[in-house]
Amino acid sequence: MHKLFDAARADQPGPMSYLAAKGLVDRVRTGDAVLVITGAGTPPFMPKGETDGPPGAASVARALDVALGAKPVVMAEPHCIEGVIASVEAAGVSCLPEEMFPVRGGRARALAFPYGPDTRGWVREVVDTYNPKAMVFIEKGGPNEKGVFHTILGTAKTDDVMAYGHYFVEEAQARGIFTIGIGDGGNEIGFGRVHPKVKDIQPAGQKCLCPCESGIATVVGTDVLICAAISNWGSYGLAAMLGLLTGRLDALQDEETQWRILDANVRAGAMDGASARQIMGEDGVSVKTSMALITMLHQMISNGSRELSRGF
Ligand SMILES: [Zn+2]
Repeated sequence: MHKLFDAARADQPGPMSYLAAKGLVDRVRTGDAVLVITGAGTPPFMPKGETDGPPGAASVARALDVALGAKPVVMAEPHCIEGVIASVEAAGVSCLPEEMFPVRGGRARALAFPYGPDTRGWVREVVDTYNPKAMVFIEKGGPNEKGVFHTILGTAKTDDVMAYGHYFVEEAQARGIFTIGIGDGGNEIGFGRVHPKVKDIQPAGQKCLCPCESGIATVVGTDVLICAAISNWGSYGLAAMLGLLTGRLDALQDEETQWRILDANVRAGAMDGASARQIMGEDGVSVKTSMALITMLHQMISNGSRELSRGF
């Protein structure tokens, strides 16, 4: 993990959460849409998805709402969108119809992202409809150079369980829209920035377990890559930094809300990715540890905010 982190950090001109948050603050105005795209863990092993991804999307959606007054548009595959909605709503952001947007805050749109390659038209229509100023991809699998999606272990993921999130990256690049990728393994959208490094670092980087034999590393990169030990943790880091840069320290959820976000996702069927069980964990890390991380992040931005207010 630390090797991936070092590779991602060395490839970019500053701290990753800072670059991502600054990019959002510079571009997103009140009411602007930001796409938040997630969805990992696939049927039949994880029929409702996994817990790394949706809580991160909930945290980022909440931070976009609180810190920037933005309009989060959250997306995931049909098998896990209900769990994403449950997490977002546990974060205090209600998934509501379009007509509610002009009249109230604390709201997001939620869309089921259809599977497979025949979705270019759908993707273009979403971008035309919402005119997003940024896109955030959280634990969202991207294809390798042969166009194949993989698990971190090296097995292939088939088109009947994967949405083509990289179509959104292609739309963003064509239209000059800012993109952020948050991942923890090198097979997620964003890591195309450091594709050769992922191939060297990951055990299944050079050679996967599927007939493509080209490894798990994705070729899809983003303007900013946030590499974290757990993708959700990278998302909480982004929420914290959005809070620091805007002075809205409450943009990062508190510890109790962190518990509720994960609980809602697990009750909706999501599984801990490490154990494949419906338990209160993210990638094998207990909710208590993530709550402690939230405590530390709040301490960091609280101290940082005090220094900034002194003109430090
Ligand atoms: Zn393969």
